[in-house]
Amino acid sequence: MVTVNEALDIILNSTGALSSETVPLTELLGRTLSEDIFSNTDIAPFDNSGMDGYALIASDTKDASPETPRTLDVIEELRAGTISSLIVKSGQAIKIMTGAPIPQGADSVIMVEDTEKLEVRSQKSEVKIFKEAKLGDNIRKAGEDIKKGDLVIKKGTLLGPAHIGILASLGISKIKVTKKPFVAVIATGDELIDVKEETSLGKLHTSNTYTLYSQVLNCGGTPANIGIARDNPVDIEEKIKSALKCDVIVTSGGVSMGDYDFVKDVLIKLGGEIKFWKIAMRPGKPVIFGLLNGKPFFGLPGNPVSSMVAFEMFVKPSLMKMSGQKPDNKKEIEAVLQEDIKKKKGLRFFLRAITQWENGSYITKTTGPQGSAILRSMMLANSLIILPEDEEFIKKGAKVTVRLLD
Ligand code: AMP
Ligand code: MG
Repeated sequence: MVTVNEALDIILNSTGALSSETVPLTELLGRTLSEDIFSNTDIAPFDNSGMDGYALIASDTKDASPETPRTLDVIEELRAGTISSLIVKSGQAIKIMTGAPIPQGADSVIMVEDTEKLEVRSQKSEVKIFKEAKLGDNIRKAGEDIKKGDLVIKKGTLLGPAHIGILASLGISKIKVTKKPFVAVIATGDELIDVKEETSLGKLHTSNTYTLYSQVLNCGGTPANIGIARDNPVDIEEKIKSALKCDVIVTSGGVSMGDYDFVKDVLIKLGGEIKFWKIAMRPGKPVIFGLLNGKPFFGLPGNPVSSMVAFEMFVKPSLMKMSGQKPDNKKEIEAVLQEDIKKKKGLRFFLRAITQWENGSYITKTTGPQGSAILRSMMLANSLIILPEDEEFIKKGAKVTVRLLD
């Protein structure tokens, strides 16, 4: 039996990032960049107006005020997306819209609210300026967001909407990201039927197939439902073989001490290397981890809560690493326990809990009965209380570590 920390170390040391693939912008959300992105251009690409107003020469507006306006000739109107061929000279202004390139000669923009357009007299249009413009006012400089040559997004970055927008503004339509792990999900058990099958006494619907499938999706993997293997070595072997096209294999059930728990034997028969069996934790103790054809193999316990918790604690970090990310503990916080808890010494406990912010600190309480077959305890939980191996009684009011769930 290994500790939770040892198990995690072994798993992460046996997992590496997958290779990369080129993906278009619309499929990039949540993917991990596998190359550094340098800018091939300035963003903004040219000096442009930050306001609707008038591009002019700041010194022409010296001491302008509502009482002492300055009057300038308007020589052109410039919309976003167009450029001017004229050069602004002293006494002149060009009406300009937000985003339009600053015309030559102009050194500032005065916003339209500080001006008044005058009647057109003999083909000539004029504007009154009520405020002094300072050099550079309302000009968005070329490169103010990103400079040509900048390292804009680092390899390993998890891509969100803003990253994808930046790539678009650089004119990059597709980039290299780490492949998504393709994860086989296999349920095992003679008692299991699929969700559409009629139930009868002694049978139950495979819920693990669908929780595990969803957990894979939640961490950015692509799940494959390989189905239900019956509790015999032949069937388990057949299902595992058909899962070998995937990057990771996750089974549930058949890893305990029962007479019909064959997953470990089959893994060995197929040449798999068992790295450990059993972790000092509850729920989730009988987890098997190994490598089969060099691919991570997780034999999770069958109890619905055990398989979910073991996935959260071990499969997820492994999938994150395969996706090119660093598994981190950002989601672990400290909270004040709202009830007394008695636990077994020697095992790390993961209790399903509701944790919330109240009067300046997090408080946490269990969701009720904690049996590992009570999936409802997981459904109601937003977090797991993590209780250390060496403790036996934890008093109400104690500070405990809590892991927030997605
Ligand atoms: P096992 O680990 O195979 O001994 O299974 C432990 C318990 O989990 C048993 O009560 C099983 O019926 C239950 N179980 C196993 N696999 C599943 C599954 N796919 N969905 C729901 N319950 C399961
Ligand atoms: Mg079973």
